[in-house]
Amino acid sequence: MAGESPYWNPKTETLGRDQLQALQLAKLRYQCEWAAARSPWYQRQFKEAGFEPAQLRTLDDLRRLPLLTRDQWMSSQEARPPYGELPAIGPDGAIRVHTTSGTTGRGPLRALDSRKDWAWIAEMWAYAIWGCGIRPADTAYIAFGYGSFIGFWGLHYAMEKVGVLNVPGGAQTTEARVRQIIDFGATAVASTPTYALRLAQEAALLGIDLQGSAVSRLILSGEPAGSIPQTKTLIEDLWGAKAFDTAGMTEIGTIMVFECTEQPGGTHIIEDHMIEEVIDPDTLDPLPYGESGERVVTSFGRGAIPLLRYRTSDLVCKVPAARCTCGRGFDIYEGGILGRVDDMKIVRGTNVYARGIEAIVREFPEVDEFQTVITREGTRDEITLRVECKPDWPAGQWDTLSDALHRRLALAHEGLNFRIERAGEGELPRFELKAKRTVDQREALPHAVVK
Ligand SMILES: [Zn+2]
Repeated sequence: MAGESPYWNPKTETLGRDQLQALQLAKLRYQCEWAAARSPWYQRQFKEAGFEPAQLRTLDDLRRLPLLTRDQWMSSQEARPPYGELPAIGPDGAIRVHTTSGTTGRGPLRALDSRKDWAWIAEMWAYAIWGCGIRPADTAYIAFGYGSFIGFWGLHYAMEKVGVLNVPGGAQTTEARVRQIIDFGATAVASTPTYALRLAQEAALLGIDLQGSAVSRLILSGEPAGSIPQTKTLIEDLWGAKAFDTAGMTEIGTIMVFECTEQPGGTHIIEDHMIEEVIDPDTLDPLPYGESGERVVTSFGRGAIPLLRYRTSDLVCKVPAARCTCGRGFDIYEGGILGRVDDMKIVRGTNVYARGIEAIVREFPEVDEFQTVITREGTRDEITLRVECKPDWPAGQWDTLSDALHRRLALAHEGLNFRIERAGEGELPRFELKAKRTVDQREALPHAVVK
């Protein structure tokens, strides 16, 4: 459409730094006042910290607020089931509850939302889908289970808000999803990066030409893999479409970052609706632009569960908005979400990140799926990459592939010796949501010391 803005919210997305920060400060004060008036958790926390919302005179005063951890949220839920003391409204004021997958061994987090919260959740996703060029004429296929995991629920509503025709691809087989994408002529597909690869594998088995399909955009979310350049390139090649990275979390109900059409090698932070701090996870000191640290989020939009200075354990590196040429004033997470602060593994003194391994493995298109297994043999740690090759790939070339993987992995890990093992067809787990490709068997040992 002529004269149409490339921004969902032209006014706030192009604010200068000073105006943007003034807006953040006003919203921060409001959110703190709301929390102080309504949430038993924050009432007690503020009191203990000697904090009052009136003390917020500049954005630096944000550091007067105590940090919130997932552990504290869990403990509060356990002490006062089912929702704990964090919520600022009761279940009577909420319209939906979503839960996390609860993989950390302490059961799921339960997040309440009001009708107003849901409008905000959709609004955040609208920044992303409009920002990557999706318009009312598009048809979106949402490859998502529509269950208690919040995932793409917000994206679904944002698509409706923009006026896009939605195809909700809930409880279905991968084959049925691939066929629907083609049958409905979907122009956009939303999924996790892992599942985008899985759909492409399935299409290949079915003899369906995805590159020749109507799909021109993929909205990726749910895993850091969406920002690994090698993985993204592979997805784009298999689909013949552009892939756009986003990231969110159940704790805020929606996304906090998205990739624009200029694709500057990172994701813009939706800074008119949140404050994202980067801190040193050990000292808790703020880190400057360009240094990697832990993401701490304060969101202004969720009323039922105000989230102030929440420690996410996400590893990020913030750079200024000027890094991108799209004209947005929103700062950028270089490389998107880089992983988890705590998912670094130490194997024989060398740091190993799942993200680093994936980046290398994705350089080899003959690899269909992989898994990293860390074991302890006596006192010695061993790391093994298990590789499943494409079904039609000639087995005679295994030695060449395994040598190349071995060499590339050693080079990137201070000479660390990775064992490369071939897995049989279909032997390795496939993932639809968050992939978990690293198995650290040392953790199961009674006296394992991971050092
Ligand atoms: Zn941009």
